[in-house]
Amino acid sequence: MVRDNEGMRTQLERFQEALSGRELDGAIIAAPEALSSVNLRYLSGFTGSSAFLVIAPTKAWILTDFRYVEQAQKEAPDFELVRHRPKVSESIAELLRQESMRRVGFEADKLPVAMFQAWSDAFGVTLQPLDGLVEHLRLIKTDWEIDAIRTAAKVAGEALTGVISGLVGKRENDIALELEWAMRQGGAEAVAFATIVASGERGSMPHGLPTHRAVQTGELVTIDFGARIHGYHSDETVTLATGPVSDELAHIFAVVAKAQKAGVRAVRPGVKSHEVDAAARAVIDEAGYGEHFGHGTGHGIGLEVHEAPFAHPMRPGTDHVLESGMTITVEPGIYLPGKGGVRIEDTLVVTDTGAEYLTRVPKEFRIV
Ligand code: ZN
Ligand code: ZN
Repeated sequence: MVRDNEGMRTQLERFQEALSGRELDGAIIAAPEALSSVNLRYLSGFTGSSAFLVIAPTKAWILTDFRYVEQAQKEAPDFELVRHRPKVSESIAELLRQESMRRVGFEADKLPVAMFQAWSDAFGVTLQPLDGLVEHLRLIKTDWEIDAIRTAAKVAGEALTGVISGLVGKRENDIALELEWAMRQGGAEAVAFATIVASGERGSMPHGLPTHRAVQTGELVTIDFGARIHGYHSDETVTLATGPVSDELAHIFAVVAKAQKAGVRAVRPGVKSHEVDAAARAVIDEAGYGEHFGHGTGHGIGLEVHEAPFAHPMRPGTDHVLESGMTITVEPGIYLPGKGGVRIEDTLVVTDTGAEYLTRVPKEFRIV
């Protein structure tokens, strides 16, 4: 079980406290096969592919099937284990009856409609959406979570350093594969997401997945990569040069670097996340490249690669006031179709007085 700083309260205990604040008798967190299990993992520590949590104010159960009985016992010791019946709803209904729960929270944005209908019929309780309660708890990371992201970034950064010498002549695919291999060898349990390698004019595609194109001399190569440790992700982008580049590409690199620094400087407690976007975007707008920066400046990161808080000008309702312990990326870019592109990205943690880099690969203009 992941504990709060200094082992004060578990994530389960914080959730239980929040439940009573909402006048709920309990909550069900469902992660049936193939659905996101991030919140379930956050509350219980369980990493398998299918389980359900029933959480009452002072007790909690994890329901799973034969495959995961032993694993759930080990990973979720704060939960009482129930091997559920073939029809999960029967086992959940029994627990709800036994504990006299009447108003029960559930994740309306995650539960499939068919399952919701079956539950409504079977449980005879009032099901009330939790409205992002677990996501809210996840916003502020514990020291343990921050360390996991820092370690993931370290593993990813060291892997990159070993891969980027002599890029010329290598295919984008091979660069991505070498990098992913090195991250796994370095201790990553998985890569955070499909590695992006976009060279030459392909750099104008913000999410250009690698192809068979071989890197040439005198162009820019954008590599967006990350590793995963204990379920937590790192996310970082470098844009490297393979020799002197055109004045225009050198210029947009300088603009993006300046914008990224402005965004990083804006990250501190009390600032709204959209202000981080505004700080970076202003630099790119002033340089006349506003229309070539069509995505948000950053996103929160943790058990998911993209989570709140979002530093995005066009996502209403996703703005958060930054607080110490939040993690966020800063990743402005300029993309010129037919010519190439630049993106520079770091992952930061908000501290009491500002921000600290979790990603450590140098971001200045480099010829490799
Ligand atoms: Zn990225
Ligand atoms: Zn990112």
